[in-house]
Amino acid sequence: MSTNTISQVAKFGGTSVGDARCIQRVLGIVNEAPGVRLVVLSASGDTTDHLVDLYDAALTGAAVKAARAYERIYEHHTKAAQDLGLSLKDFAELNDRLAELLSVSSQIRRKHPDPALRDRLLGFGEALSCFLFSRFAKQKGRHTAWLDARELLPTDSRYGQARPDREGLKARVEAKLRPLIAAGVLVVTQGFVGADSEGRPTTLGRGGSDFSASLYAEALGVDEVHIWTDVPGVYTTDPREVDSVLPIPHLSYAEAEALAAAGGKVIHPHTVFPARAQGIPIWVGSSLIPGAPGTWIRAAGPKADAQVRALASQDYPVLWIGEWPEAKATECAEKLIARLEEKGGEVLYRSERRVVLAFAERLKFNRDESRWLRACGEWREHLNVRAISLIGQHLDANAGLQARLPELLDGFGVLASVHDEPALAWRVFVPRDQALGLLRHLHRELLENQGLTAHKPAETAACSA
Ligand code: ADP
Ligand code: ASP
Ligand code: MG
Repeated sequence: MSTNTISQVAKFGGTSVGDARCIQRVLGIVNEAPGVRLVVLSASGDTTDHLVDLYDAALTGAAVKAARAYERIYEHHTKAAQDLGLSLKDFAELNDRLAELLSVSSQIRRKHPDPALRDRLLGFGEALSCFLFSRFAKQKGRHTAWLDARELLPTDSRYGQARPDREGLKARVEAKLRPLIAAGVLVVTQGFVGADSEGRPTTLGRGGSDFSASLYAEALGVDEVHIWTDVPGVYTTDPREVDSVLPIPHLSYAEAEALAAAGGKVIHPHTVFPARAQGIPIWVGSSLIPGAPGTWIRAAGPKADAQVRALASQDYPVLWIGEWPEAKATECAEKLIARLEEKGGEVLYRSERRVVLAFAERLKFNRDESRWLRACGEWREHLNVRAISLIGQHLDANAGLQARLPELLDGFGVLASVHDEPALAWRVFVPRDQALGLLRHLHRELLENQGLTAHKPAETAACSA
């Protein structure tokens, strides 16, 4: 392979660039992989959370809280720059960038939500990471350029959840990125961030850097995309919730997508489709344990077995479950569902007799609406619900599992259990206080005792620990 050819895109998450030691490690990983010519970075550590706090505090006029959030970001990045041994000139530039961040935050007007301004602010985290990494890499003798994602990734203007223009990205990649790579430059860019047609910064949704990496991989037509995170691959469930998780060496695109959509935050749910469009395998592994085998996500073989491969869980503050006899699947229910969607409801499941909707907060109805509501089948509102999803290809063909489910769920106060079609997940809704018990029970019964060795993640701590 020529040194000026790209074969992999590598994305590093928040923990992977969490401090100077981590950033040094990232450069080591990149230098070891000559095919990696594009590095996509997340914000360092908890920076995006601090930026959200800063925005929220400014919006409510909580100046002290806002100042504290800014201070955390300031201290975190100046310490990293110091520990990386950056030059005085770099320090001056870092200071300018941090001053710009403060100036943007000062434009937030009390009680005037401004999604465009919020995205502008939230994007600073990734920019600061790119700044630190590119300067450090240069200092270490690597020919590096930071190409701003706002100039690369065109999106629509849905601030906070922007959708990429994949064709537009391709054109910009050819015009701006490919020539740099061909000239032997290691290019660094921000994950999570793009810009709309007016040039205003946008973000792809929390955790969206994985999605960015996959989009760049698709546009470049590389052989692999590498997602470096704080766990050595995808496990059978979140290792923060279950001790006896098992590593999963291979997952299909569909399984990975279903796992992420069901709340398994190891990758962003939209990471899969751009890579899948080009048949690009996605590898997930830990930058803290670079030698570990990790997980490969690629197209399923022809003989995928109908087994539960993983569990995921997701919280819903307010859940509505509507049920009606088939004969009564009437206009009334249709209209009601439409009304509930207008009130912000997200339909999680829908069949002829049942609908499950999630809301961010409790709904208010006037007396007329309440009467109308009672006339349309049976509607129940539940607060603090968690959905546990069983993920696996062709679960609907697993008669044994279906027969066993009632016994497995017995005693857990299940509010509804649904089979998502054509998704691969069985979803079980339970009160949040029962969810962890159920997750552990299902993990024990369905995933442990399969002849695999239980694997407690060896290291999830920050690099400098
Ligand atoms: P990054 O900042 O690198 O994007 P994230 O925190 O977004 O990292 O995702 C990694 C985290 O995802 C892990 O620390 C882990 O707690 C969580 N996670 C949830 N489900 C899984 C799973 N099935 N396998 C591995 N990690 C999981
Ligand atoms: N920094 C962003 C977030 O925390 C994007 C990402 O990490 O993927 O949501
Ligand atoms: Mg993430």
